[in-house]
Amino acid sequence: MSEKSLSDLIHNPSCLEDYDPNSMPVAQARQYIREFLNPATTRESVSIRSALGRVLAEDILSPCNVPNHDNSAMDGYAFNADDLASSGETALRVIGTAYAGKAYAGALGKGQCVRIMTGAVMPQGADTVVIQERVSAENDTIRFTDGPKRGANTRYAGEDLAQGQRVLPAGHLIRAADLGLIASLGIGELKVYRKLRVAFFSTGDELVGIGQELKAGQVYDSNRYTLYGMLTRLGVEIIDMGIVRDVPELLEQALLDASACADVILTSGGVSVGEADFMKQLLEKLGQVVFWKVAMKPGRPLAYGKVGHAHYFGLPGNPVAVMVSFYQFVREALLVLMGQPAPTPSPLLSAICTGEIKKLTGRTEFQRGILYPDQDGSWKVRPTGNQGSGILRSMSEANCFIVLDENTGNIVAGTPVQVQILEGII
Ligand code: AMP
Ligand code: MG
Repeated sequence: MSEKSLSDLIHNPSCLEDYDPNSMPVAQARQYIREFLNPATTRESVSIRSALGRVLAEDILSPCNVPNHDNSAMDGYAFNADDLASSGETALRVIGTAYAGKAYAGALGKGQCVRIMTGAVMPQGADTVVIQERVSAENDTIRFTDGPKRGANTRYAGEDLAQGQRVLPAGHLIRAADLGLIASLGIGELKVYRKLRVAFFSTGDELVGIGQELKAGQVYDSNRYTLYGMLTRLGVEIIDMGIVRDVPELLEQALLDASACADVILTSGGVSVGEADFMKQLLEKLGQVVFWKVAMKPGRPLAYGKVGHAHYFGLPGNPVAVMVSFYQFVREALLVLMGQPAPTPSPLLSAICTGEIKKLTGRTEFQRGILYPDQDGSWKVRPTGNQGSGILRSMSEANCFIVLDENTGNIVAGTPVQVQILEGII
């Protein structure tokens, strides 16, 4: 969508149904953001190993059949099913051996078979394999009853992939299995979208960096470290711009510097009530940014828009809120910008909650939970202790979010709830 519609969203929101910047449902905020994202288009060639975690910029077509020849799926004896006795015992003469990578050169005559290993090319004239456990072998003859059906225990050329078949589509995020699949085609280099450049800085007069002495009222900046971790896992290029004081000129310069070198800018802090007006003015001057109060906890304030050509996400300052907002909005947006047209949403799984939870309706809560298999075979989830949005320990202890939607109120122990697993995602 064009920047004009982003400006509509900011200045003329009434054109959009149900638009309420003071109580934006999570799903709607996600949807609005989605409409303004324009995926990467610049491509580069990388070697196969470097493609892990990158997004394919072109379809991969199979240059050959996989497997490239009919072969045996088992250790046994290859023969022609025409030689099966119509009843009783089948007896065949063994005329040679076929190994994986070393085919039997000759052809089978009537009543003959070839000892064959898994993966070996089917000898000429053979169409079926009887597994070795089913036969009795004596001298150069094998015997078996209840012979296999024609074609049993064989794998056909092109059965996995036919030559010319589309193996992976452009926009696919490359994972471990894909590396193997691509290697199985003999492809050593592929085209991916260039890495997304993400710049971020923390805002706040109270923040100090590691290595400095902590004076009264100061806190160490932890948000840049969680952001570093989450962004690194996504495989983007990181530009860490440090801490920026709550001084308009400094913030302005930092935003301009970031927009000059990055595709995406993330800031933490300074978007909540009290500071919002100040950041609002600055961002109004520099770009097109909406300020929402998302109906969620933690992570209510969220700013989203553009500063120059860069996408901008203004995250709250509270350390847990940063992670929740990142997980709920930024991660998916980055995946789209990286070139994945439709990233798979994080699945919501059901588990029994072991404790009671106090919750108001009208907002989505992302409580931190510990998901575990119970002795009775079911999956249970235990909320971590203090759920304050500044309690970062709760994120370290947790392995999932307990997602309680807007319609959900208090929960009693034993209720099934939905959980989102964190492992592998953040
Ligand atoms: P703010 O959104 O700027 O009002 O910040 C909300 C709370 O988060 C305050 O208690 C801040 O001290 C804290 N906070 C903001 N930024 C950071 C940061 N980078 N690291 C740790 N705590 C922070
Ligand atoms: Mg602040």
